[in-house]
Amino acid sequence: MTKSPDIVIIGSGIGGATIAAGLAATGAEILILEAGDHLPDRPENRNPRAIFQRGHFRPKEMWYEHGGSAFNPGNYYYVGGNSKFYGAVLVRYRREDFAEMQHREGVSPAWPFAYEELEPWYSRAEKLFQVRGDDSQDPTEPRHSEPYAFAPVPDEPAIAKVRARLTAAGMHPFSLPLAIDIDRWLRKARTPWDAHPNADDGKLDAETAPLAKALQHANVRLQTNSPVVRLEAAADGKTIHTVHYRQNGEVRSVSPKLVILAAGAVQSAVLLLRSADARFPKGLANSSDQVGRNFMNHNSSAVLAISPSFRNDSVYQKTLGFNDFYLSDGNGGPPLGNIQLLGRISGAILKANLPQVPEWLLNQISAHAVDFYAMSEDVPHPESRVMVDGERIILKWHRTNWDAHLDLVKKLKSVLNKAGFPIVLSRPFDKRTPSHQCGTVRIGKDPATSPLDVYCRAFDHANLFVVDASLLPTSAAVNPALTVAAQALRVADHIASKDFAS
Ligand SMILES: Cc1cc2nc3c(=O)[nH]c(=O)nc-3n(C[C@H](O)[C@H](O)[C@H](O)COP(=O)(O)OP(=O)(O)OC[C@H]3O[C@@H](n4cnc5c(N)ncnc54)[C@H](O)[C@@H]3O)c2cc1C
Repeated sequence: MTKSPDIVIIGSGIGGATIAAGLAATGAEILILEAGDHLPDRPENRNPRAIFQRGHFRPKEMWYEHGGSAFNPGNYYYVGGNSKFYGAVLVRYRREDFAEMQHREGVSPAWPFAYEELEPWYSRAEKLFQVRGDDSQDPTEPRHSEPYAFAPVPDEPAIAKVRARLTAAGMHPFSLPLAIDIDRWLRKARTPWDAHPNADDGKLDAETAPLAKALQHANVRLQTNSPVVRLEAAADGKTIHTVHYRQNGEVRSVSPKLVILAAGAVQSAVLLLRSADARFPKGLANSSDQVGRNFMNHNSSAVLAISPSFRNDSVYQKTLGFNDFYLSDGNGGPPLGNIQLLGRISGAILKANLPQVPEWLLNQISAHAVDFYAMSEDVPHPESRVMVDGERIILKWHRTNWDAHLDLVKKLKSVLNKAGFPIVLSRPFDKRTPSHQCGTVRIGKDPATSPLDVYCRAFDHANLFVVDASLLPTSAAVNPALTVAAQALRVADHIASKDFAS
């Protein structure tokens, strides 16, 4: 057994890296075990054909549908996790997302605490990730105790025209809050950043923001290429005693005082389920039988608005969104969701989905198109599940609220027609894109229905915390990472105040 640190954090993505930053100053010996390696600085990083057509960065692994067919998920294993590829939209859940919300299909349950409880840590997370934004533009924006420290990333001229057209069509576009230093990003190459990997080129992701900060402390250590394979409970079952991980083909073990699991919403559930033994046949932290259940992944579609008379010469594009259908459908009916721009979609990117169409033709279409992302809430459902079958990961995604999403896309099309885009095409994202996976080890007040308490501590094992997107009891209809980061900082303060690791 390797000498055991005070705290082991499993995974260096948004949850793991942010809690490491929050705990670093406590002086506790912290070891971060990360399955992947550092993302190298290579020409493929800015090559859309390598990224989208050849799937250069996609993992080799396969997950399985409930019926048995295999698919290759866009789930990334690098230092920094999925945030290495993210669109860097670091937006708060709306205040209303913390309360019960009736949707067209089902109810989005209330969080165990209100927006105001998390608010101070939202502000801290925005500072940590150097978010650029303006909290005065979106009527649904909840109250901020501190303004953003940086002005929003500017609209490019073509996008400024889109903003004006949307405003004229009655919408309330706002500048997306973004964790990107746009000048640095463009200095390396003039490409979008959404779904493009970041090798410290100006995108503030889990590695370049919180992890870099945590590693300035001598008591924090990162160990790469070290996937955790099993957790083992102590003899009395009340705590986790051992963390088993693989390194250089050997299984090694550590026995820290505190274990913080942050492997992502699918892999954290998988690890708890795979750690089943005779005492815990349903897996660890799972007396509620909720681990792996309530899997959510937004209902989302790419929507291309095309006009022969509109020329889109933007490079990055992704600077605005609107929430006019977020709290209601605009006619007093249930909520539909959020609209935001995608990163600029070129012919080379379109070709990944339309291989039979020549790239020159797709480039011509793209020159006259602006690309949106429509996102609707997926409400928790106990039969929406991550399961394990031997070595296989089974993802049985029971989508909910799909009709509301179709309605959101329909509303968006009519807004875009009104804004001067006569042709609007849409295509939904499916389970091969589990970008906004969440909910599988949720927080709550009742151990019968939630594996974790309100500070992400497992009800079943006093020294186990799970701090990644699996904690989210609802998916809302905005990007998840800032809420994960805010809760990670809140949990770090709680751990530090209780001195759990001593
Ligand atoms: C293309 C793309 C675009 C996105 N855009 C946005 C956006 O604009 N805004 C936003 O808010 N969100 C966005 N997201 C989602 C966002 O990246 C995730 O919500 C966020 O990264 C989740 O954080 P996490 O801590 O749960 O998991 P991750 O950040 O994925 O981290 C999990 C980490 O655990 C490691 N790991 C996994 N298994 C093990 C194991 N067994 N042992 C050790 N380590 C392990 C992984 O390698 C990884 O480093 C996007 C995601 C993608 C893929």
